[in-house]
Amino acid sequence: MSPRFTRRYLFGAIGTSAVLASSLRIPAGAQSDGLAITTTIGMIADAVRNIGGDHVNVTSLMGPGVDPHLYKPSAGDIAKLESADAIFYGGLHLEGRMVDVLEQLLDRGAAGAAVLETLDSDQLIETDGAPDPHVWFDVALWGEALASIPTVLSELDTSNTSTYEDNWASYKSTLTELDTYAEEQIGTIPEEQRVLVTAHDAFNYFGRRYGMEVRGIQGMSTASEAGAKDIQELADFLSERQIKAIFVESSVPHDTIEALQKACESRGWPVAVGGELFSDAMGDEGTPEGTYVGMVRHNVDTIVAALA
Ligand SMILES: [Zn+2]
Repeated sequence: MSPRFTRRYLFGAIGTSAVLASSLRIPAGAQSDGLAITTTIGMIADAVRNIGGDHVNVTSLMGPGVDPHLYKPSAGDIAKLESADAIFYGGLHLEGRMVDVLEQLLDRGAAGAAVLETLDSDQLIETDGAPDPHVWFDVALWGEALASIPTVLSELDTSNTSTYEDNWASYKSTLTELDTYAEEQIGTIPEEQRVLVTAHDAFNYFGRRYGMEVRGIQGMSTASEAGAKDIQELADFLSERQIKAIFVESSVPHDTIEALQKACESRGWPVAVGGELFSDAMGDEGTPEGTYVGMVRHNVDTIVAALA
């Protein structure tokens, strides 16, 4: 078993009331100002806002267009993590340059969880021996990963437990509707076109859940480099299969997808860039894509429009 899975057991310990009692810090004024929650990626922040409602003040360290694999925390970020009542992050090395900071905070007794590490290892996709962190594109599995959030909020703020439980139930039903929407929409793409090619391997869970073959030019982390050979092989694949479109990602430079498009053109196959997908970050605040649900819907609609 990979050492990366150890955190889920740590969360398991934190989730136990006996241990929680010693690790809780309930700040003065929590009732009036709400719990201060710091998260890494926006998709987790969105869930905490939905579950916590008026009782939480959420700070997300990584905004629109920010790549979590490459993100380095600033001194200000560390302060926001250290002063938070609870922290929630992905884990499974999603935040590749923040792992030490985040793990140390939980080790020192901070409330919170690495949400992806609360899942069982057999629910995760492994690539090259490492678990793939991009779970949010399997909407049902993402819902399971988020179950640690209402638990931690309720333990920290027992007077609002029923609100957290109600909000969680409501958010879960929203996720169920979204999961159904994605399944139905992807099902409208002709089977031979159900191929999703993007800049990096962020969509393996999406492919497994909704029935698409998935190829990324780069590996699971954007920290790895795409080779010329990878691009040539993918261009062969796309032109042989006559796949209509490939996709750029909002948090990854577009150059590798453009190189792939050129390589397809040189083979006489005019593949289209089917639009921009939100992979590891949500869209701008205040836009529909600035929420988790809007982000997934945008991706599904963009994929269907280009391939159906
Ligand atoms: Zn990624």
